[in-house]
Amino acid sequence: MKLLVVSDIHGNLLALERVLEDAGEFDGAICAGDIVGYGPEPGGCVEKVRETGFRCVAGNHDHAVAMGDASDFNPHASEALAIHRRLLSRWDVEWLGRLPAWLRLELGGVKVAVYHGSPRRPLREYVYPSYARQLAHEFLNQTGADVLILGHTHIPYAVRLGPRALLNPGSVGQPRDGDPRASYMVLELDGGVVSVDHRRVEYDVGEVARRMRQLGLPEPLAARLFHGM
Ligand code: ZN
Repeated sequence: MKLLVVSDIHGNLLALERVLEDAGEFDGAICAGDIVGYGPEPGGCVEKVRETGFRCVAGNHDHAVAMGDASDFNPHASEALAIHRRLLSRWDVEWLGRLPAWLRLELGGVKVAVYHGSPRRPLREYVYPSYARQLAHEFLNQTGADVLILGHTHIPYAVRLGPRALLNPGSVGQPRDGDPRASYMVLELDGGVVSVDHRRVEYDVGEVARRMRQLGLPEPLAARLFHGM
């Protein structure tokens, strides 16, 4: 079974479209949250995620848009969320509000759990690669998963513990590992054996930045896309 895994799309439809082209055919698709926030096309991303059939958890930005409360975000993120709330239809906002905090799935004989932040703080905790290895054992035991997928840090990694794995696909729409290309992951799940393929794909960053400026989204959010930071 070929599983497409993405996270942190952040309203960047051009990046998401390039990922879907690049990924080719797949048997299932997972999104680890933050469909909206930051980018120019939150509604287009919600629609694309839905029509592609992604199974998706809520990210902190999805939750904040749905609740209409961005009080614990930095000023740029909070400004972008206010713009997104105006751009999104009421139906899309309600759909975002119904996203679950986690997913537990059995795919290709493999138990898969998905959270945006972490199992102990689904919306908030940042599990960076520097301490992912330290936490992998605890999180995998806590969730009973063979494969635990997290997002939120915008940094891709894979920690293997024997046949089990703690994985982060990185960010489609706003990578923060110094590589501006959209980041995603393809898993092959086959009778309990998991192979992990981290992929990067270029997209038209200049065009996305242009659309962001046109909407009056904060300039630093556009500028950072060129640096992948
Ligand atoms: Zn995010």
